[in-house]
Amino acid sequence: KPFSIDLGRLRSREKDRSPAAVERADRAGEELGFVDREPGKRRGRKPSPRTGQVHAKVLPPVADEIADGEPVSGWLRAMAERWPDMPQVVVFDTSFHQTMPREAWQYALPDEVYTEHGIRRYGFHGTSHDLVTGLAAEHLGIPRGEFRAVVLHLGNGASATAIRDGVSVDTSMGYTPLAGLVMGTRSGDLDPSVVTHLMRNHGYDAEELDTLMNRRSGLLGLAGEADMRQVLENAASGDGRARNALDVASYRLAKYVGGYHVAVGGAQAIVFTAGIGENSAPFRARVLDRLEALGVAYDAEANRARVAGPHTISAPESAIPVLVVPTDEEQAIARLTWELAR
Ligand code: AMP
Repeated sequence: KPFSIDLGRLRSREKDRSPAAVERADRAGEELGFVDREPGKRRGRKPSPRTGQVHAKVLPPVADEIADGEPVSGWLRAMAERWPDMPQVVVFDTSFHQTMPREAWQYALPDEVYTEHGIRRYGFHGTSHDLVTGLAAEHLGIPRGEFRAVVLHLGNGASATAIRDGVSVDTSMGYTPLAGLVMGTRSGDLDPSVVTHLMRNHGYDAEELDTLMNRRSGLLGLAGEADMRQVLENAASGDGRARNALDVASYRLAKYVGGYHVAVGGAQAIVFTAGIGENSAPFRARVLDRLEALGVAYDAEANRARVAGPHTISAPESAIPVLVVPTDEEQAIARLTWELAR
């Protein structure tokens, strides 16, 4: 039972904050793919077996903003107070994207916006993109270190990641998970001047804009439904708003696939994962239909078939293989935790 963590053993273990333990954690992090190109700006985005108090200090400020208003560090503190000797492992959803080159993570704002406020693209869904990249490479028999792909995590939140040499070189989410694709309730990309215009001329404040863009937009804003199943059903029964929402979402996604195909120097695979990516043949078809210019051809029957594990849905003549690979973020987190805490 490789993933059953022996809590009794962890609890009785002495608090280990020695330099050797920290080094061990860093080494494990590197071996597991949590490479950091800029140690000076690390801000704790690697998992490590240090105690909760330390983690609370090293959490990036952005983490406070993404946890539905509940500061992440509060959870860590509470756990540390209740079980002071139990190591806590923090697996950051941003870690996998630390390999992005500067050209991909930097916004074209004055430099001090980054150096003073840490505003840059971080990316999210890293645990899932990492796991799915490994599984897809394995499925195709390509060594992970040579693997180039575009991975599409399409759930309630959605992001695309460009994979080159097995690591993330670009991703569609940014400083927060709001950027990029059309999601269940998030708008994804928009002109930032829309925000200042709505504030100046239509009386919106920051809170209202946050709610508008994060909770009332995306499929919900366009079609009146956040759930892809319902949107597809409504579109099939002739609802024009639902059809339009599917068009906007699939068009945006296809543009990202095209862009990332260039970013990785020619993808060896397009990989669908998460709730919509794994289960929604009609939405996959709408995206793939837009990728003809890349030579992508899919097998309609293979696309509709329900298969449990990683499987190929492209036609043999497709210039790029298309895969569906189930994600399992909980298992990936459990694996990392086991590696670091044992
Ligand atoms: P996740 O966040 O990965 O759990 O994905 C949630 C999203 O997956 C929701 O928008 C669901 O509507 C969508 N989803 C789950 N199953 C299906 C399905 N069979 N067909 C279409 N969408 C689905």
